[in-house]
This record gives sequence, C-alpha cells and structure tokens, in this order.
Amino acid sequence: MNDLASELSERLNRIREDGLYRELRRIDSPQSAHIEINGKPLLNFSSNDYLGLANHPILKEASIKAVERYGAGSGASRLICGSLAPHCELEQALANFKGTEAALSFSSGYAAAVGTICALLGKDDVIVLDKLVHASIVDAARLSGAKLRVFAHNDLNELEAILRWASERNSTSTAIPHPHTLIVTESIFSMDGDFAPLREIVELKEKYGAWLMVDEAHATGLFGPHRRGLAEELDVSNHVEIQMGTLGKALGSSGGYICGARVLIDYLINRARSFIFSTASVPAAAATSTASIALVQSNEGQQRCQRLWNLVDQIKDGLGKSGWELSPTGSAIIPLIIGDEAKAVHTATTLRERGFYIPAIRYPTVARGSARLRLTTTAAHTSEDITKLLSALLPGNF
Ligand SMILES: *Cc1c(COP(=O)(O)O)cnc(C)c1O
Repeated sequence: MNDLASELSERLNRIREDGLYRELRRIDSPQSAHIEINGKPLLNFSSNDYLGLANHPILKEASIKAVERYGAGSGASRLICGSLAPHCELEQALANFKGTEAALSFSSGYAAAVGTICALLGKDDVIVLDKLVHASIVDAARLSGAKLRVFAHNDLNELEAILRWASERNSTSTAIPHPHTLIVTESIFSMDGDFAPLREIVELKEKYGAWLMVDEAHATGLFGPHRRGLAEELDVSNHVEIQMGTLGKALGSSGGYICGARVLIDYLINRARSFIFSTASVPAAAATSTASIALVQSNEGQQRCQRLWNLVDQIKDGLGKSGWELSPTGSAIIPLIIGDEAKAVHTATTLRERGFYIPAIRYPTVARGSARLRLTTTAAHTSEDITKLLSALLPGNF
C-alpha cells in the first residue's frame, strides 16, 4: 500500500516517536493574560501580544469602524483594486512612526520577508544570516537562489570573515549587474530573547559595502525612546536600509511591514511577489494597525511598556532566586531551557494542568536538544499573576 494517507501516517508516527508531534489547541476566549482552553481557565504566558493590545477597546473600535466604512474584504491585490484608504493610511503611519521616507504593508511578516529578500537578491548575490534568524528569513534566502552563508549566533568575527570573502568574490565577479551582499538579522531573537549587536553589525556592513535588513518583530513597540525598535534604541536606524517587522506582536493586530527609502518601497511594489500576487489584507486589519501605532506612541503606550518591563524584572528576580538559569537579556522573552524534548513537553503539560499556559518549544523551531519553555509576559498581566507563576515554577514542582 502506497497511498498518501498511509505514507503520511508513517511520517507522523516518526514525528511522535521523536517527541516532536504538534497539535492545535482551540482557545475559546480573546487573546489575553487569561485564556480559556476546553472550558479550563489558564494564565497565559505564551503570547507575543507584549503590550496587551490585541483585545484593547481602541483597537477593537478601529476594526469595527473600518468594517462599517470599508466592508469585510479587500476584493483584490493592492495593484489590481485592493489598495484601500486604510492601507494607505497605515503606510503613512508606519513611515512617520519609524522615521523613514516610506513604508509598505504585507499580509504578514512572513510574506514581507519572502517578498522583500527575493525581490532584492538573485543567484549572483550573497545573503548572510545569523544562525538563529526566523524561518521566514531562512525560507526567503533559499527561495531567492542567492549564495547563502550563515554565521554563528551574534558572532561578529565570523560575520566579518564572511563579508571579507563576499566582498572579494563580488569585486572579481563578471556577473552583470554587479553582485551584492545582504546581511539579515533579527534585533531581538524570537526564541532566546537576546539582542543583536546592531552597532557593530552596522560598522561591518559599511566597511564591506553590504546592505542590512533588520527584523524587529520582537522589538517594535517596545524599544527606543519612541518605541520604534532596537535600531532606534541603539541609534542606528539611519544605517539600516531595510527595516522589517510584524504588526501581529506588540502591535496587537495582523500583517507585516517594510520601512525604508521611497525607492526601496517603489521597487518592492513592482517586484515583491508576495505583495503583488496576494489579496490585500482586510481593511479592518490595516485600520487596527494604524490605531495601534498611534496608541504605542501615546502616553498610554509608554505606560504599558514600563509596566511590561516592571513585570519582566519581577519574573527574572523571582526565577533567579529559585535557581533557574537565565540569560542576562532585557526582553520580554524569557526562555527556560530544559534540553530534552520529551521532558520539555512533560513540564509544559504539568504546568497546564496547574493552570499555566507556557508552550514547550522544540525542534525544528529551536535546535535539537535545546527544547525550552518559552515564557513571555505582557502588559496585560498583573503583579499577582506573576506571583502565582513564580510559585508554580518553584524547583521540586516537577
Ligand atoms: C513572528 C515573526 C515573523 C513573522 O511575522 P508574522 O506577521 O507572524 O508572519 C517574522 N520574524 C520574526 C522574528 C518573528 O518572530
């Protein structure tokens, strides 16, 4: 027997045997600090809704108003007839927020990465990635056909060696037009919560004439004096040609974006296939994102951010005291490294039974043998929520 179903059951069995089987869990409540799964209330420490905006009344109202005014669907891709006022307003708001000439919104961050990298690079070019960048960037790099080089996580020496090799290669190449090198990194890494050394990376890319794309998925709305991201905090925004991010995490909505020079955006409108050949996001998503960008920049945005950092401090303090080994990072992502895949799943299950939702993250999201609980907190949590979490995570509980 060789039909599709029996082949797939075999493959699934192997995934199960490796402790890597995944399934969806239906949530019967809004996204928030408190969620409900199968009728059971849980304290949620798993979401990327860092500022607690996904269920915010201002964002909900923006959604509803956009539906009332512009309807439910977009009808076509942006270039056909789907470029509605909410998309244009969002892009203006993004460019103002990030302090760039222009911006382009995509249906997701994943689509932004794939569309942009494949539009910029071809088989004669070189793409250089940090070992831990997100799957969307890895997939984009492969699909672009560019020569792919990977440096060890945050390893500037290895990055420089690759850039030296690439600049020699490119300068002796006979390809027309001249080949280019693009470095791509995240600013805050999604599964470890640590920072990229953006200043040093900027120095290197200028020294070797490479382009730089920074994915601020876990930093937008959270870092820098105007909460634009880590590039703002480290004062290198003007040196990052391609600023990427998602509207689905701290911004509490849905979609992805690229911010940069007007020529970059005009070029992407002409060449980014995930933008050109895909229906525009629904007007409600665009309008919600615009409302969120305004909220993030307001006093309330600042207060929510401060509240988030206070809760992060409380968690790290408490976990440190009870003996958990923590990396010294300053983000809202706190990985609790377990190592073994099955043990990580068991720990997550035990916690869930006790009313805490913290997902086990396993291969292929992280390397084999580095399974972890990926603990995230949000401004929607209270200090009492954290106290409960800390007592659930006391050693000897598992
Ligand atoms: C979530 C994420 C993305 C993808 O963004 P979506 O809008 O969810 O598609 C890209 N990069 C990183 C680092 C992410 O964490």
